[in-house]
Amino acid sequence: MEESKTVLSHLSLYELEQQLSHIPRYRAKQIHKWILKGADSFDKMTDIPLSLQNELKDKFLPFSSRIVSCHNDPPAKVENKITGEAIKAVISLHDESRIESVLLNDGKKRYTACISTQAGCPAGCVFCKTGTLRFKRNLEVYEILEQFFHLQNICSSVSSEERNQNEHVIGSIVVMGMGEPLLNLENLKKAISVFTDSQGINFSKRRITVSTCGICESLCDIAKNGPYVRLALSLVTADDKLRERLVPISKSNPLSEIKKLLLLFQKNGGGRITLEVPLLGGINTREKDALSIAEFADGLVTVINIIPWNPVAGLEFEGTPLREPERKETADFIYMLEKIKLKVTTRFRKGRNVSGACGQLGSVSEKYI
Ligand code: SF4
Repeated sequence: MEESKTVLSHLSLYELEQQLSHIPRYRAKQIHKWILKGADSFDKMTDIPLSLQNELKDKFLPFSSRIVSCHNDPPAKVENKITGEAIKAVISLHDESRIESVLLNDGKKRYTACISTQAGCPAGCVFCKTGTLRFKRNLEVYEILEQFFHLQNICSSVSSEERNQNEHVIGSIVVMGMGEPLLNLENLKKAISVFTDSQGINFSKRRITVSTCGICESLCDIAKNGPYVRLALSLVTADDKLRERLVPISKSNPLSEIKKLLLLFQKNGGGRITLEVPLLGGINTREKDALSIAEFADGLVTVINIIPWNPVAGLEFEGTPLREPERKETADFIYMLEKIKLKVTTRFRKGRNVSGACGQLGSVSEKYI
């Protein structure tokens, strides 16, 4: 990206009109519409006169990033066709860093966009591929938003391939890709305000989920000031000592403090919180872990989401390679939770074959971080 050029992809209509105050407002409105449709170059804005397109190209960029590859799970039968239950997009940023975003199909022509907030991640969760990468930087607001537009373009291409224009749509956004979103709070908040802008993408806050391993300072801000989007806490276990070993950043973010902030979040208007438990064979599947989760959930409105660990080669815990939980181990753990009257769901393993499932992102982009 040419540093001197201004990126437009994250601007609200009002901001865009200000930025392009030298052109008629109706032209700014046309450009805004094109950006919302995912037009990543002025050439694609066919109702903008060529002379204006060329003038704008000198100073502005509609997008700063581009997709470098797409990976379908299951693989497409026809070469280059974009299809599957999960489609992982590898995106190159202006400084050549790479991030990964995933489009998940719920089978009803509704898709979920899973987006990233950092290149690499400093949280260092031992069960997560991204956690093994070095942390490069926070993503800019436009880099967070452009992932949505790129994934939307993929949705459109699926629709047009099936001659069913506009039928495939993104129905929800989960901020569960690479990085810890609450370590990039200001840019995340600005991105959410653009996602929910009624003159723009117009997404309901209830259809946006932010997943965090629990950063107290940011949780405090969100609990007090919003946005009251859906919140998911990557709990893993509520046994503090074990959690500190599995999620190193939790040493400075104790569960007792996180719980107080989640209670405040719900008191102030936040909805049900998902407690995510990536299930690691032989590690956090003990009765003690189930009981600690019940104790943590007490007083909160929650659902427990069990995610049998998605394999990542080379990941280990204190010298022992991590393993997937056995079927019986998972079933027994769910039984223990349900016996204590907790509401439990199990996450589908979509995207595993392209390393696009929970905890697997980073395998394609790691050499660029
Ligand atoms: S699970 Fe999330 S917070 Fe933890 S290392 Fe992976 S990307 Fe970072």
